[in-house]
Amino acid sequence: MTIPLETEHAIVRDSIRRYMQAKVVPHIVRHEAEHSFPFEVLPALREFGYIGGMLPEADGGMDLDYLTWAMLMEEAGYTWMSLRTLLNITNGAIRRLHALGTDDQKARFLQPLLRSERSACMGITEPNTGSNVAGIQMRADLRGDHYVLNGRKLWITNGAWADFAIVVARTFSPDCDGQLSLFIVEREASPYEVRRLDTMVLRCTGTAELSFADVKIPRENLLGAEGQAFSKVLSGLDGARLNIAMGAVGAAQHALDLSVEYAKTRTQFGRPIGSFQLIQKHIVDMTVRVEAARALGMRAAHALQRGGHARMECSIAKLYATETAHEVANMALQVHGGLGYSTDYPIERIFRDTRGGMIPEGTTEIQTLIVGREILGMSAIV
Ligand SMILES: Cc1cc2nc3c(=O)[nH]c(=O)nc-3n(C[C@H](O)[C@H](O)[C@H](O)COP(=O)(O)OP(=O)(O)OC[C@H]3O[C@@H](n4cnc5c(N)ncnc54)[C@H](O)[C@@H]3O)c2cc1C
Repeated sequence: MTIPLETEHAIVRDSIRRYMQAKVVPHIVRHEAEHSFPFEVLPALREFGYIGGMLPEADGGMDLDYLTWAMLMEEAGYTWMSLRTLLNITNGAIRRLHALGTDDQKARFLQPLLRSERSACMGITEPNTGSNVAGIQMRADLRGDHYVLNGRKLWITNGAWADFAIVVARTFSPDCDGQLSLFIVEREASPYEVRRLDTMVLRCTGTAELSFADVKIPRENLLGAEGQAFSKVLSGLDGARLNIAMGAVGAAQHALDLSVEYAKTRTQFGRPIGSFQLIQKHIVDMTVRVEAARALGMRAAHALQRGGHARMECSIAKLYATETAHEVANMALQVHGGLGYSTDYPIERIFRDTRGGMIPEGTTEIQTLIVGREILGMSAIV
């Protein structure tokens, strides 16, 4: 008998929810206060497919499809947006190393990442280069058997804690005249400066600025071919947009669940506040938005699973889900009254963290322009 996908997902979702509730949730308040992250939870999460689960089994993965992956991201977002964000970065590095890495790079970087023995960050954004990835200024000059890196990377998730960074740099060598390439930079072997940045959102993701001043890396740390990074970076964005969209759906669902519970149990004027029509309106608006965002996210997952062009579906899902999750969190704050502002209670964190989805992986404005370009066949981005 074939088990329908929804039933399989429901079983896995249930065991993930129980695991997170027991092993991750009890530590969140402390880590949020300390702006730290419990990396020790990652090895166990690999059992659910969270670390490299989409890779083929032969390469250490679980052959997961995009629909299952979308569900995993939703559950991670339901638990803690900082967790989902770090999983996204880790899996982005895993995917790039798997697709482009040499056997030696896979042994030194991919395998330890899969075992959570090392951790990685991804450096694209710079002080003068955000939405316009083509404007990257960091440079890598080939000098004999090594490259010399100069430049800065900004807003780098896990930058504070990563053992190595995968960075994009404009490359100068006999075979490359300033096109973008990917490089692996090991923090210990090729020290670069790390400055931790505190942000309103996603406080437990080790956001940092990385500075490279004549940092030498061996030639064999070039990831993929020289000058090929632009298409490689952009090609990964659709999957990353699905991740962030489904994480936002999970966070919004959590805010909704807490609000429904609170509306049933909190009494004012001698009645549960859920019996007031205006509170019911908030709950219904939240529910409609969460359902719509999930449907768009799953549509994007289907499009990616089919293969081929999924840009429009992924951008619509990212645009709608991240904006909507923050609206839902805002309504949840309202339903909770003063309690919503308490840092001992999840709503204020969900409110802050859902704001964090509208900027990375292409801002709301950039998603809007991508969708407009897909519909009209004309670009308004530049
Ligand atoms: C939580 C978080 C985590 C991040 N993690 C990473 C990471 O791990 N690695 C990494 O490399 N980067 C990371 N980033 C950086 C992120 O990718 C950039 O912040 C993002 O690409 C936007 O760039 P910017 O902040 O420089 O804004 P800008 O590009 O300067 O944009 C400023 C404003 O102008 C708008 N804008 C820009 N261009 C256009 C246009 N053509 N038309 C209309 N409006 C436009 C934008 O939408 C925005 O509203 C992270 C950011 C955040 C917030």
